[in-house]
Amino acid sequence: MSESFTSDVVIGLEIHVELNTRTKLFCGCSRIPLRENEPPNSRTCPTCLGMPGAKPVVNKAAIEQGIKLALALHCSIAPTLIFSRKSYFYPDLSKNYQTSQFEIPLGSNGHIRLPSGKTVGIVRAHLEEDPASLVHKGAYSLVDYNRSGDPLCEIVTGPDMNSPEEARELMKELITVLHYLGVFDASTCIIKADANISIKESGYVRSEVKNITGFKEIERALCYEVERQRDAVKRGEQLVQDTRAWDAVKGVTTRMRTKETEADYGYIIDPDLVPITLSEEFVNSIKDSMPELHFEKVKKFVEEHSIPEEDARILAQELSLAHLFEEVAQRIDPKLAVRWLRHELNKVLNESEKVWSEVEADESQIIELLELVDEKKITDISAREILAELIKRPFSPKEYVKEKGLEVVSDSSALKPLLQKLIEEHPQAVEDVKSGEPKAINFFVGKVMKETKGQASPAQVNKLLKELLDL
Ligand SMILES: [Zn+2]
Repeated sequence: MSESFTSDVVIGLEIHVELNTRTKLFCGCSRIPLRENEPPNSRTCPTCLGMPGAKPVVNKAAIEQGIKLALALHCSIAPTLIFSRKSYFYPDLSKNYQTSQFEIPLGSNGHIRLPSGKTVGIVRAHLEEDPASLVHKGAYSLVDYNRSGDPLCEIVTGPDMNSPEEARELMKELITVLHYLGVFDASTCIIKADANISIKESGYVRSEVKNITGFKEIERALCYEVERQRDAVKRGEQLVQDTRAWDAVKGVTTRMRTKETEADYGYIIDPDLVPITLSEEFVNSIKDSMPELHFEKVKKFVEEHSIPEEDARILAQELSLAHLFEEVAQRIDPKLAVRWLRHELNKVLNESEKVWSEVEADESQIIELLELVDEKKITDISAREILAELIKRPFSPKEYVKEKGLEVVSDSSALKPLLQKLIEEHPQAVEDVKSGEPKAINFFVGKVMKETKGQASPAQVNKLLKELLDL
């Protein structure tokens, strides 16, 4: 297989997404901590503790969410849901096996398209249970089974990425899909990735870096790994296939073990879990319940509003912002809407570390504000000020403008005396304007804006200035 690669770097990801269900994958225990600082092993039952005789029952919500995700990744859905026992050598699963899918994954043969236009294959998407967590305290290692049995969807990509940056882009695209589908809640769900990486110089000997959390960390870990492998080859070292851990604090990977192959795990079909037929009708009903996804919105925004794809992509990246744009673009010139939502609104949201869905103001207030801008009743400076206030609390921009006296001073009888005074005070600038120096015009516009506290219309000042100077 490795002979078929030609690029300098080859990366594949295995991503574990915790699904946003109420209960665990095979029992009725709550997936979400019931209170802060919950005691260890308080959300457990005979099933997730792996007691003899306990009977697992598959959580329907996890199946539905898994199918949604697989469909959004353009996967084919398996006709039958089968679970297997994966022999497990670590102390964080008390059954000595992990219930997972091996023979027939829930979804297969899908893809994700990156903003660059590149397509990354999705080999499989399957359901499995999360192991418990180990807590190391001094000489002891303790096991907390609260997390044991949480539903995960594992997504395995093809070895199709050729740089750490592409791996980060893929994670970003995936997270957007997860948010749109509502199958992932950033406050309670965890997303982790294992990365397979190899380089041409070593003949594509793979290292697998385990348990990287966060998409910026993935890029960091992969950048480190590329350098490490290149340095090793340069020193004449023979690389061997291994499994490594990412230490985010030190920014290095360290060897955990030489890599097992899938065959080492010894899978058997779980006799406690009967196969479930996923009828076409059931899958179609899930398909019908799915929202429009971000890549569909991007296409729609570009076609309906003739806006650049990059703008459409940024607006569609966050679901509530995409909805806002859809509402606003029906009432306001879409190009004006793009400028204010993509650039100005995103800027104030970033500054206050919020997303639009967390803001109390609604689209009607944004529309009101943009109408004032569109009709040139307020300047951009005033509009920015109002936008920053709207992020903090909802109010009517029209009334705000009236109360604060922010209407544009377009009345020439108010601007004329001011300009006349400025012309007398700055003869050199007047000469520059006359000789066609554009900076000199901006000088006068700037002075007038300062005097009127930003409420003059620059176009109006420009026009008046030329009139007064007989240009
Ligand atoms: Zn349980």
